[in-house]
Amino acid sequence: MSFATGLLCRECGTAYPTEARYSCDFCFGPLEVSYDLAAAKDAVTRESIMDGPNSIWRYGALLPDPGVKPVDLGAGWTPLRRASRLAEVLGVEELWLKDDTRNPTGSFKDRVVSVALSSARRLGFTTAACASTGNLATSVAAHAAFIGWPSVTLIPSDLEKSKIAMTAIFGGTVLGVEGNYDDVNRLCVELVAEHPDWAFANVNMRPYYAEGSKTLAYEIAEQLGWRAPDQVVVPVASGSQLTKVAKGFHEFIDLGLVDGAAPVLFGAQATGCSPIATAFTQGAEYITPQRPNTIARSLAIGNPADGPYVLDELRRNGGDCGSVPDEEILECIGLLAKTEGVFAETAGGVTIASLRQMIQRGTINPHKSIVAIISGHGLKTLDAVVDSAVVSSTIQPSLAAAEEALRFHQLVAAS
Ligand SMILES: *Cc1c(COP(=O)(O)O)cnc(C)c1O
Ligand SMILES: [Zn+2]
Repeated sequence: MSFATGLLCRECGTAYPTEARYSCDFCFGPLEVSYDLAAAKDAVTRESIMDGPNSIWRYGALLPDPGVKPVDLGAGWTPLRRASRLAEVLGVEELWLKDDTRNPTGSFKDRVVSVALSSARRLGFTTAACASTGNLATSVAAHAAFIGWPSVTLIPSDLEKSKIAMTAIFGGTVLGVEGNYDDVNRLCVELVAEHPDWAFANVNMRPYYAEGSKTLAYEIAEQLGWRAPDQVVVPVASGSQLTKVAKGFHEFIDLGLVDGAAPVLFGAQATGCSPIATAFTQGAEYITPQRPNTIARSLAIGNPADGPYVLDELRRNGGDCGSVPDEEILECIGLLAKTEGVFAETAGGVTIASLRQMIQRGTINPHKSIVAIISGHGLKTLDAVVDSAVVSSTIQPSLAAAEEALRFHQLVAAS
């Protein structure tokens, strides 16, 4: 059972029931799901969690009520890998990768979609929709197919071909919009008004959707043996993931499931779309929207909905936010693959390059534990690497040619 009690306005605190509502009647502020943590404290134990399924739904008591049963394609419970070889290169003592490439559709978005569509089904919706930079559309289309719902996903029309194919294959309606994500999102807000019976995962379902990201924090703590790491690096698009990872650690601490302090959180952005890193560095109170221009398409949100909350979180706890150019994103996709055997999409390159940058400027402590969230699989952004990741040599099918090439690549000694 779920200990969710209702929706609370994040600005003025007005309470609402857990219904189909996403902004406050009084101040138009965003809403957030609230829980009766005092009641949950007796019922939610390490043992009760460990008895649950190997998906995000092992934490169902701390997620919105999914109704009869969750829409569970198997999101979550992804590996937390100790990254000793990468740690050595970066000069840090204890580094872990939260490998969210290993989700049903290859990105962390499966977590938020599983929660959003479960709530949507409970609330009586029958069509799934979203505004997406790519990964969300793929996940919505897959989960909709899984429960036999129609889906309508809207993406920028110039997205990576691999992301478009991964979405279209599930058979829903995919609308390629001639514009950037911020244009797509504005259009979806208008569509919600016309089609109030469609569940737009990240618009009218946003309070429920956002809760799915808390499971990243829960899993990291559980997989570390019920302990919070000292520092976590989180890729930032709208900023929802970062704020909910913070919420997840605080809930586990409040429930007595982990001891000690919550980790310091660090954001990761591409310089070509870094409105939050810019505001953070300049000490600005407000985010100035930016027109995105980066290969990290999944993070290309120029006007981030949760930007102010990310700034609050980073500033409250001594965090920082990386801003890395496209060349470093590509280089760090390679570095991660070569040191740890993990192939990440461009967002993963942003996370690793930002981690390196913040170690170098001294805001990340190399002697304390670090978790880096790798949020999407490299097959999603093959376009970004096909020109650099190529065969070592092309040869004739003869032993002599093979041996010559091996000598060239210094795998056998020259004779
Ligand atoms: C959506 C996404 C994120 C972060 O999204 P937020 O909007 O900040 O929650 C990170 N990585 C990948 C691969 C994504 O698709
Ligand atoms: Zn309000």
